[in-house]
Amino acid sequence: MNICSKRLYALIIVGNLGFNNMAVALTHLLRNGLIKTAAVLDFDLHYGDGTENILSGTGVVDICNPGSYGHGHAKGEAGRKDYLREVESFLKSLRVDIIGISAGFDNHELDWGELLATDDYFAMGRMVKERALEIGSGYFGMLEGGYIRESQT
Ligand SMILES: [Zn+2]
Repeated sequence: MNICSKRLYALIIVGNLGFNNMAVALTHLLRNGLIKTAAVLDFDLHYGDGTENILSGTGVVDICNPGSYGHGHAKGEAGRKDYLREVESFLKSLRVDIIGISAGFDNHELDWGELLATDDYFAMGRMVKERALEIGSGYFGMLEGGYIRESQT
């Protein structure tokens, strides 16, 4: 790791731990009356406890952390299918103004989580887009974890 990447890593740590980007974004939208309800699909490997702690108390933000660390699915094909079913079920339950995606790629089969294939991330993206179109909501994503370059390409 050269000095530039060390600085970048430090900035990423500050960005993820010092500020919760998703909470900042959704709180801004809520407080300014731009939305009344929201959902967070957090497919990072790690449980989004910061997001949950900040946003669940609002009573207007639904949060899904499918298969996060410590709450994981079985490995392999069955685990992947379960994971995607959980995401699909969550999305189908939504009637919100906006869907935020905490897009961590550390659950990729080449990364720590060793579970999801690249196609699974495309599938989740399509699911969010399709559901957003069905319910007339907006959607956006924020990059979260992912530690193996190949899992993010
Ligand atoms: Zn993570």
